[in-house]
Amino acid sequence: MADEIGVHITEIHIRNMKNKWASCSTTGRLTFDRSLLDQPRETQLEAILHELLHVRYPNHGRMFKRLLRAYLQQEGPDRQGSGSGGKSKPREGVGSGEDRNRKGVAAVAT
Ligand SMILES: [Zn+2]
Repeated sequence: MADEIGVHITEIHIRNMKNKWASCSTTGRLTFDRSLLDQPRETQLEAILHELLHVRYPNHGRMFKRLLRAYLQQEGPDRQGSGSGGKSKPREGVGSGEDRNRKGVAAVAT
């Protein structure tokens, strides 16, 4: 997955974090909260992608969000069959998307 995005990940750590899912550094080191392992695959994927993209884009700019969404659609577990008709994806996350979790990935911002 990291190759697709074009980032080079040097280290991945799993540890207990107090108030966020994950963090990253521009040197390519990613850290994920242990509790993320208990989350649904979709949440894990989003957190991982979020951090991968941060290695390239250290902010939440328009480009960052566009890419995150694009990769999530690509990697996500069958979005087409989820009953939304396939043409439009679920809209819940748009706009305030990063604030929807208590430990929202937005808190990850470096
Ligand atoms: Zn972030």
